Amino acid sequence: MLIDLYREANLPPISTEVCIVGAGAAGLLLARRLLAAGVEVAILESGGADFETDSAGLNEGSSAGHPYYPLEDSRLRFFGGTTAIWGGRVARLDAIDFERRPWIAHSGWPFGAEELADYYRQAEAQFEVAGPLPTAQALAEQGLVFPEFDSAQLALGFWKFDDKFDRFTHKNSRDLKDHPRCRIILHATVSDIVPRQNGRAIDHLVIKNLHGQTAVVRARQFVLAAGGLENPRLLLASRSVMPMGVGNDHDQVGRYFMEHPHARGGRVISNRSWRLLDLFARRHDYEGTPIAALIRPSDALQRRGQIIHHRRPASPRRPSVLGHEAL
Ligand SMILES: Cc1cc2nc3c(=O)[nH]c(=O)nc-3n(C[C@H](O)[C@H](O)[C@H](O)COP(=O)(O)OP(=O)(O)OC[C@H]3O[C@@H](n4cnc5c(N)ncnc54)[C@H](O)[C@@H]3O)c2cc1C
Repeated sequence: MLIDLYREANLPPISTEVCIVGAGAAGLLLARRLLAAGVEVAILESGGADFETDSAGLNEGSSAGHPYYPLEDSRLRFFGGTTAIWGGRVARLDAIDFERRPWIAHSGWPFGAEELADYYRQAEAQFEVAGPLPTAQALAEQGLVFPEFDSAQLALGFWKFDDKFDRFTHKNSRDLKDHPRCRIILHATVSDIVPRQNGRAIDHLVIKNLHGQTAVVRARQFVLAAGGLENPRLLLASRSVMPMGVGNDHDQVGRYFMEHPHARGGRVISNRSWRLLDLFARRHDYEGTPIAALIRPSDALQRRGQIIHHRRPASPRRPSVLGHEAL
């Protein structure tokens, strides 16, 4: 069932088994899994079915520290969330990303890559890109012969791509809208998470529509799927019972924010530019999945050079100073 609170004068109280905040990739995939397991679900989405200036404005804010994208431009606030503009890259972290590396402050996860392997497999299946990444040998058999890198320096990496750009749109979510145990509530912005007085469980959420009308949502369980910035923002803004914000007794909510910064760097000078561009600057098909090849620093180089892991796609440039054709 679809309920739109945009024009409602009196918002109805809502109660459900599991309440999911946010109808992005995380919220919608979770809703489908819960519905398949027989659970009743309500999805609260702050925006409408498509982009609207009013709803998008709720993403505005300021950020401190390292320069960052304007907050209203880096995510989307409507059904389907930020996947409406994402690149569709479905990539795993590598084993070294989980390791404690003394040259990187705060590095080291409490578990290794293997812990996530099964979750990655399940997520990849949802994006229809299941199966292992290709090897250089498998690609050579289909005519894509990659250069052999010195493993003390460089390694070959791959990204898979989900090509279904409208996977999470409103139009393609008929199954959720028609499901008898699913309610999708649009223009329902969660503005407060209210814990019980003992702080050990959530009592209810407060939602607001764009006209400022409010209602209460009760559920057996609540899931925050409002995105990597809005989840902590909401927890920190919810101070009606816990003055530090919900779950923030140790002042850790919102810390260790991770992004993937972009930089232009590195140059490959070659008399085989077309060959390299053919390999590294376009997508290939591998067993029905679109992939792109990348150059990455080998684990050995990262340790030796005390550098951070990164991936280098290639694109053509012609630096005038060199007079060479370069990548
Ligand atoms: C230009 C761009 C390209 C990208 N390319 C890639 C890529 O190639 N590969 C990749 O893996 N990632 C990529 N990303 C990142 C990726 O899009 C996000 O990580 C992903 O969409 C996060 O999904 P999510 O469901 O957690 O959050 P979102 O997609 O942000 O969804 C959150 C939902 O919650 C709603 N919401 C927010 N606050 C509230 C509230 N208070 N109450 C109710 N609802 C609320 C929002 O309206 C939204 O619908 C890209 C991002 C951008 C901006």
